[in-house]
Amino acid sequence: MDALPALDFTPAVGDLPFTPQQRSLLALAHELGASKFAPRAAQWDREASFPVANYDDLRGAGLLRLCVPESHGGLGADYPTYMMVAAELGRFCGATALTYNMHICSTMWTGVLADGIAMTPAERTEHARRRELHFRRVVQDGAVYAQPFSEGSAAAAGRAPFGTTARKVEGGWVVNGRKIFASLSGAADYYGVLCTEDKGDEKPDARDTLYLAVPATSEGFSIGGEWDPLGMRGTVSRNLAFKEVFVSDDEQLMPRGIYFKGAQTWPAMFFTLAPTYLGIANAAYDFTVSYLQGEVPGEPPVKRRMYPTKQVAVAQMRIQLEAMKSLFTRAILEAGPNPSKDARMRLYAAQYSVMEGANDIARLAIRTCGGQSMMKHLPLERLYRDSRCGSLMLPWTAELVLDRMGRETLYEPGEKDD
Ligand SMILES: Cc1cc2nc3c(=O)[nH]c(=O)nc-3n(C[C@H](O)[C@H](O)[C@H](O)COP(=O)(O)OP(=O)(O)OC[C@H]3O[C@@H](n4cnc5c(N)ncnc54)[C@H](O)[C@@H]3O)c2cc1C
Repeated sequence: MDALPALDFTPAVGDLPFTPQQRSLLALAHELGASKFAPRAAQWDREASFPVANYDDLRGAGLLRLCVPESHGGLGADYPTYMMVAAELGRFCGATALTYNMHICSTMWTGVLADGIAMTPAERTEHARRRELHFRRVVQDGAVYAQPFSEGSAAAAGRAPFGTTARKVEGGWVVNGRKIFASLSGAADYYGVLCTEDKGDEKPDARDTLYLAVPATSEGFSIGGEWDPLGMRGTVSRNLAFKEVFVSDDEQLMPRGIYFKGAQTWPAMFFTLAPTYLGIANAAYDFTVSYLQGEVPGEPPVKRRMYPTKQVAVAQMRIQLEAMKSLFTRAILEAGPNPSKDARMRLYAAQYSVMEGANDIARLAIRTCGGQSMMKHLPLERLYRDSRCGSLMLPWTAELVLDRMGRETLYEPGEKDD
């Protein structure tokens, strides 16, 4: 029998028939977020510094190993469970939730996602052996992984091979190139780098994408560039340079060619940035309701709820938020390998609605609450700035999602006009 008490809050994803594991993880994420992450969020934002203390708390609570399979000492959370937990964290500290996504993906792609990608028996054996090392680092050492793939070219959009290359040498790979926007730079223990196999004279091919873990201590690896952006300042997403960096064969997070297959098979792997922004949308909405009710702690108890225009705005925000949650939950519950065309369209629609919707809701929140609400001692202006970053994230920016949806609706794969 399910002995867990009911949740005493409404999760960011809404009320769903949660499993006992989901309920206890959501309670944990909510408690950590409300008591620890929310009070610290302004500091990381002001300093554009990484939320190290939050990662110590995540590690202490076992949440760094959320998606490591139970057989390897993790919590064995599946895709929808991760997405629910991430949305809950996002309502308290956007930068923590967004960077947590990069770390979690390194365990989820190699874990539950890889389990759904076709591999030969030899590839499966190789993968099983190598991921053991990687999971052990997370479980036993509390290691943190970053996920740098952006390069400022068409590669991160999935339209060209990565310019960062890996050359096969005895016992491992030699990596050369650069990455931009590497969240967790300077804070991660390992950088899960996507790069193209350098086969000498042959033309680079996206099918030869490799996914390698580069230890932060590697010779020839360096971090550079300024970090002073509009929002998501605590992600500390600086540039990485790789100059003849040697990594051993065991740092291969997926067998050769499997990342490319995975990206074709499991489109929902690119939807994992969205929960952060669903969390932010919830936070902006919740703030607006308490502000209009005159119940924001530390603020004068001035009520503004009696104005019909405010009531209409709150209703509009709620309608948009409910629509976002519905699409989001449908998309995460049906996520899996080889989705139908309809499921893929819903996934794109969910991504677009959440990423653009979060900023719409934050914008309406500031307009509705008014000038005093955008002061730096309140969270709303940070939510507004953070929310703007969601639809810029490749490969599924708002523009590229529109592009994909339109094209894939009107054309079947391989179809061309005469
Ligand atoms: C806070 C934050 C954290 C980030 N963290 C990470 C991280 O950890 N790892 C990581 O790899 N990246 C990360 N990124 C980078 C992100 O995923 C994008 O790569 C980055 O925002 C792209 O910026 P750009 O100016 O180079 O975009 P450009 O490539 O110049 O593109 C500009 C816009 O044009 C559109 N566009 C791009 N390519 C095409 C195309 N082929 N066809 C049509 N339209 C196109 C897109 O809508 C895009 O937004 C982060 C970004 C932000 C803002």
